[in-house]
Amino acid sequence: MIGVYIHIPFCDHICYYCDFPKVLKIGQPVDLYLKCLLKEIKKGLKIRCQKDIKSIYIGGGTPSALSEGQLIYLLDGLNQIFDISQIQDFTIETNPNDLQNYDKLQIMYRYGIRRLSIGAQSFSNNTLKRIGRNHDCNSIIQAVHNAQKIGFKNISLDLMFRLPGQSFEEFKENISQALKLNVTHLSIYSLILEQHTVFHNLLLEHRLVLPTPENDRQMYSYAMKVLKQNGWHQYEISNFCFANHESLHNKIYWHNDDYYGFGAGAHAHFGNVRIQNKQVINDYIHDLENDEMPILKNHFLTLQEQIEEEMFLRLRLNQGVDLKKSSQKLRIDLLQLYQKQIKKLIAEGLIEYKNERIFLTENGRYIANDVFSEFLLG
Ligand code: SF4
Repeated sequence: MIGVYIHIPFCDHICYYCDFPKVLKIGQPVDLYLKCLLKEIKKGLKIRCQKDIKSIYIGGGTPSALSEGQLIYLLDGLNQIFDISQIQDFTIETNPNDLQNYDKLQIMYRYGIRRLSIGAQSFSNNTLKRIGRNHDCNSIIQAVHNAQKIGFKNISLDLMFRLPGQSFEEFKENISQALKLNVTHLSIYSLILEQHTVFHNLLLEHRLVLPTPENDRQMYSYAMKVLKQNGWHQYEISNFCFANHESLHNKIYWHNDDYYGFGAGAHAHFGNVRIQNKQVINDYIHDLENDEMPILKNHFLTLQEQIEEEMFLRLRLNQGVDLKKSSQKLRIDLLQLYQKQIKKLIAEGLIEYKNERIFLTENGRYIANDVFSEFLLG
């Protein structure tokens, strides 16, 4: 199974915590970018057999920030390139503000998109302001209702915790609001302070007050507990779904399978090669206008890197690493290779071993990055 990631790097505003490849949309050559993007997709698809493509994910940036005309141009182009009837997961990332009427939703649905990922982040207007979001709580609720009226049955909300000024009570209210909306998927992330963001600068100036690590853990633990009580299934460290609505596209990443990446700054993965596109929009456009692929670098993974990636990515999933299958794939006995680490992590209560699989325990999920670092070789 192969996935296709398509990057739309334009946003109507910049959030204070964001380090994704993105630019303010205003003044950007958006039409020309879309033309080059379709050209890149057509050229790039010659690498692999198209019938194995099962997911298309349009991410950003903010793909829903495209005008209606631009959305039609992009989606019509994709419908001409791909056999959409074969696509099991066709997702687009959206900002609630762009879904306040039916116009863009109707376009998305008409061209075959069946899954929406809505960047909600919080239902508290104060917190939304504090983290630099440009929408409010009501616009999230309205966006979900509008999408459901159009016919979208598979809707995911992004929520964040460990946000400045966010209390445990406020986070509890977020989960309860999300549950009331009858969505099918929640991605719940802890704030990560990345360099070159407004928040990072505020932190350096000692002007950012974050919840304590105890609060952080309390919020995450609450989310896991309450969602489970409500019949939700956690299938990845940060991802929860109702009635088996797992993200098929994201599972391709966590299974360490192959995927195309199109657009400025996008990444692709085929076997032992990782490919990264140029991120500067003008460089990206320049290459495609000159009939060249906009590749910044091809990285050939060493065997050591392949093993480490297999472990880190699969361990994110609740079903963990199938040591037998992964050993066959990499042609190396992983149980033997990691014997010492596995014993130690089991003794510390951070992973479990069952039916030839290792997976994180609840305690392991709290400090997943520390657990992953145990699998670094050399
Ligand atoms: S809308 Fe998304 S991509 Fe754009 S700045 Fe905010 S978090 Fe980043």
